[in-house]
Amino acid sequence: MLTRIAKDFRWEMAHRLPLHEGGCRNVHGHSYCMWVELAGEPDEQGMVLDYFVLKQIVDPLVAEIDHAFLCDRSDKLIVDFLNSSGLKSVYVGFPTTAENIAQWFFERLKKLFSPMKHLRELRVRIQETERTYAEVAGSLS
Ligand SMILES: [Zn+2]
Repeated sequence: MLTRIAKDFRWEMAHRLPLHEGGCRNVHGHSYCMWVELAGEPDEQGMVLDYFVLKQIVDPLVAEIDHAFLCDRSDKLIVDFLNSSGLKSVYVGFPTTAENIAQWFFERLKKLFSPMKHLRELRVRIQETERTYAEVAGSLS
């Protein structure tokens, strides 16, 4: 029977949305929470995927951005500052909205989970705050 499991991952990260007309254009940060949900047929041990294995797969991606500035490469003001600062930063080719971060994680995690043939679906939910989230979901095949 198709069964879903999920685990949450948390990190601190700075960003800004340079084209936003409100407060989000300023440098600020969030305590991010990401839910990674997998659907599949449980194996003979009754597991869709061992939570320990799930953590081993996702943790390196989270460590890369924890306490970093996630910077849109087109944001020249911040790129110039970060390049000369030596501060931890990760550059991406999109505005760093929760929607785009969810899609970014979905695409990279899909590559990692797709070889596991008993897994069917992946869902990634990004929470910037306790009251909001963006979510991307799709098939793993
Ligand atoms: Zn923000």
